[in-house]
Amino acid sequence: MSNRLKLETIYIVISFILILTGTIFKSYIGGISQVFIYGLAFIISGFYIAQEGVIKTIKNKGLNVELLMILAAVGSFILREYAEGAILIFIFALSGLLENYANSKSEKALTNLLNLAPSLAILLKDGKEIEIGAEDLKVGDNVIVKVGSQVPADGTIIFGATSINEAMITGEFLPVDKKVGDEVFSGTINESSTFIMSVSKDTNESIVQKIIDFVKTAHSNQTKTETFIERFEKIYVYIIIMLAILTTILPPLIGLWTFTDAIYRGIVVLVVGSPCALVASVSPAVLSSLSNTSRKGILIKGGKHLEVLSKIDTVILDKTGTITEGKPEVKELYFETVNETLVYDIVYSLEKHSTHPLAKAVVEYLKDSNEIKLISKELPGKGIEGTYDGNMYQVGNFNIEIPLTFKEKIHKANKGGFTTVNVSMNGILIGFFSLIDKVRPEVKNTINHLNDLKIRTIMMTGDNRYSANNIAQNAGIKYVFSDLLPEDKYRHVKSLKAEGKIVMMVGDGINDAPALAVSDIGVAMGSGTDVSLETSDVVFMNNHIQNIEKSILLAKRMKLISLQNIIFSISIIGILLVSNIFGLVILPVGVLAHEGSTILVILNSLRLLRK
Ligand code: ADP
Ligand code: MG
Repeated sequence: MSNRLKLETIYIVISFILILTGTIFKSYIGGISQVFIYGLAFIISGFYIAQEGVIKTIKNKGLNVELLMILAAVGSFILREYAEGAILIFIFALSGLLENYANSKSEKALTNLLNLAPSLAILLKDGKEIEIGAEDLKVGDNVIVKVGSQVPADGTIIFGATSINEAMITGEFLPVDKKVGDEVFSGTINESSTFIMSVSKDTNESIVQKIIDFVKTAHSNQTKTETFIERFEKIYVYIIIMLAILTTILPPLIGLWTFTDAIYRGIVVLVVGSPCALVASVSPAVLSSLSNTSRKGILIKGGKHLEVLSKIDTVILDKTGTITEGKPEVKELYFETVNETLVYDIVYSLEKHSTHPLAKAVVEYLKDSNEIKLISKELPGKGIEGTYDGNMYQVGNFNIEIPLTFKEKIHKANKGGFTTVNVSMNGILIGFFSLIDKVRPEVKNTINHLNDLKIRTIMMTGDNRYSANNIAQNAGIKYVFSDLLPEDKYRHVKSLKAEGKIVMMVGDGINDAPALAVSDIGVAMGSGTDVSLETSDVVFMNNHIQNIEKSILLAKRMKLISLQNIIFSISIIGILLVSNIFGLVILPVGVLAHEGSTILVILNSLRLLRK
């Protein structure tokens, strides 16, 4: 608990004891003592409220609920309703405390993330080990990372081999083996042996920093409803003050009520009319939801996105790495060429430059090949190409001439569910690899649940029609778009949006970043790539595809709970204001009903913290 929260709690407890004492001994003590006891309770629990009211007034140049409450309490004291005035402020402070509690819960989730960032590094300089702050590391520095400590920066291993726990970035708890030349990431944990690395990125460019920035923006990102309520509060406060003044002046003037009655009812208007519950209807619900999802490894960029999430009606899934595990394996290869070894060396050397999962699988399969120095060029959604000895080689999914002898074989592989990576020389196919990538086991259930929610699911892929259809069938997806380039994926999302669909796009950031960026909600699976963190609205830290339905369901619940809150608080205000006209509301009842509703609304929102 933060210090502020502790102090607030202490103040609340003291006021409670004072109010209790005052109430028990009410009949024994005189007016002066009552003013003293209740006045003290008022001041103690009203302190933070008044402070916040003044700060808000200066910031927004207008009145607010906090000041309205103080005004109402002062009014009660003038009417000699000391207990009511004190209780009013006490309960208002209590509801403020509850709201801050929801706030601190979601802030804790953030601090946990901040702890991800490493603090110390052991710099290697002129053969000596110097301990420095991780944020002082510069690109090119050599750093020793001992067993059990955090990797202090993003970089590459230059000496040693180890296994590293990257759970905080990928959600994968199995340690990953790393050797010289492999990339390591800031914040991950070295589990098996000491190694030396060279820093390749500044601290503020590291992946873990990007995750932290992502979550930080979530807190400054309001829902539309919140913004609306905030604007509404400003105007509404004046309306209530006007209403209170009118109630006090008008009826006595036309001889309807006595002046004493009118003043009393005017103060009741101040108490019950103020929009405390309405103001507390949405924010605690949003914060509780954000805190809930972040505990599940689902990072949402803000309340605004939660609101959109609740309305999603179309979910598009990328194939490689999203529907499939993204760890393909080469099962077969077939080549017809004079010098096969040379071709393998060339393919190996080209694919080594790519981060595409298929490229990694090919490199792994050909790992005993020799690396040849060549210049490569990667074409997103197509593959990679390069020239060797005057011949142009292309690896991937290029438009090339396929000799008859290959056609049948490739077709058979694709029909069998294999993805094929073609290798061509000067535009003519000379061989291909057949790869298989497993469909994630939870996909089928997730798709079924989404369909139950009346959400349409679509698969988009750069892969060919046959292997795409095969995977879609395994996953239970009816709509398939295949043979897409990154810009085609982007266009499809745009046209679905133009049809009025609210589109969620789930991808891994490889060849689908533009589509992620245009969709209403772009979801990055696994936060391994920096691009995905910048273009997406939601990040699944772990690769659980069930997170799709979990986040949509939670957003829907958030929406429902805020709506309940809004309707409930407006109804209570309406009922109390109308009853007051007929003199049916005595101040104690007004205070309890009004403030009680505020507390109920916040408690209702805190339900979202639960699993
Ligand atoms: P998906 O939409 O399924 O994620 P991509 O758009 O990433 O697929 O890739 C589409 C196709 O392009 C792949 O199926 C593959 O044939 C080819 N491809 C792209 N990049 C590479 C690469 N580096 N190596 C081999 N093939 C590639
Ligand atoms: Mg992909």
